[in-house]
Amino acid sequence: MSTLNGAKKVIDVLKKNQYEAYIVGGAVRDHLLRMPLTDVDITTNAKPHQVAKLFKTKPTGLKYGTVTVFMGLETYEVTTFRIDGDYLDGRHPEEVTFSDSVIEDVKRRDFTINGLLMTEKNQIIDHVEGRKDLDAKLIRTIGNPEDRFNEDALRMMRAFYFQSKLGFQIDKATRDAITNLKHRLNDVAMERMMNEMIKVLKGPYVKKAIHSMITTGVHQVLPGLEKGLLHVNQMEEVPFVDAFFALSFTLNGSIPPHWPFSNKHKHKYETAMMLANTHQDFDAYTLYTYGIDHCLLANRVNYMLGRSKNLKTKIEYDYEHLAIQSDLDLKLRATDILKLTNKKAGAWLKQLQSEMVVLVLNHKLKNEKSELEAYVLAHVK
Ligand code: ATP
Ligand code: MG
Repeated sequence: MSTLNGAKKVIDVLKKNQYEAYIVGGAVRDHLLRMPLTDVDITTNAKPHQVAKLFKTKPTGLKYGTVTVFMGLETYEVTTFRIDGDYLDGRHPEEVTFSDSVIEDVKRRDFTINGLLMTEKNQIIDHVEGRKDLDAKLIRTIGNPEDRFNEDALRMMRAFYFQSKLGFQIDKATRDAITNLKHRLNDVAMERMMNEMIKVLKGPYVKKAIHSMITTGVHQVLPGLEKGLLHVNQMEEVPFVDAFFALSFTLNGSIPPHWPFSNKHKHKYETAMMLANTHQDFDAYTLYTYGIDHCLLANRVNYMLGRSKNLKTKIEYDYEHLAIQSDLDLKLRATDILKLTNKKAGAWLKQLQSEMVVLVLNHKLKNEKSELEAYVLAHVK
């Protein structure tokens, strides 16, 4: 968490110590747009070790000149003015050179609307014509777009992110450069790509961003998402993150290994794909086996693909009314069964429990201790 007022206090301290410092980037942009701020970044000519002398700090990105400053409960990223070298690994600039000039610092930034500075007295300083583009609602690179995308191809994805967040147009020259250089996105670390893609999907103007991804051809270079993007471009409302990926990978037939999803997310998308491809509706046993979330996601995919009705309410009702939701809900435990039968545990036990689960789910056996005991005694020799 950070606030403009807190950032101004940080700037005051830096200035009292003869340094130059400004609020920069997203906070200035969002402040001028009267939008809620995410984080407030500060740029200064003080070197990281000099910042560290003035505040309680943590060295978050020393190599890139960034330290986190703690001010009460809030934190601020304070970065030294710098000029970036090439982003050879597509992840970090290969080398950064500290600079004494704030003009050089704003010129290394991606888009004009992200290059505005604000003083502690709320004065806006604009070296990049960002104000004009903010008024015109335009996303435009600072400097030649081809050069800027060649330095760091991720900026192309960031253009879509800001479009999704703000609803702005992407300037023609910037858009043309994306069309020409989109293949360079393949060089970007997939972690960065995934973060930016998820940010695109979460924005209020995601529909607009997806439309631009398609007109620039970027949908063709995102592993496994081409069909999904084309499909949702035809939909009234773009599905949220999980539903978007589950739909895209179902259309694609598999989850491309490129995306560094957590195992939990991979499992979620795989299960939803499998269920969507094998189920039109979801009986008690399927709900019990795969859980409500996977079944809802699979139904969502099928519904978006026009393969089935929207069964959301029914799935929720049926799940809520399952006789049992887990084998722990059976009123007869494994230990009870062993005592009752006087037998040693073995494969037969699991088998018997599964039989009882199916019968209970289908209301052919009551989930009551005496009934389950009677079933066990009747079926175990
Ligand atoms: P938000 O936080 O709302 O997503 P932001 O503009 O603050 O938007 P950040 O990713 O937090 O975006 O980056 C902070 C600032 O750093 C940007 O406003 C921009 O000036 C600069 N920046 C970030 N990433 C890049 C990049 N890949 N190339 C050039 N400049 C960048
Ligand atoms: Mg930010």
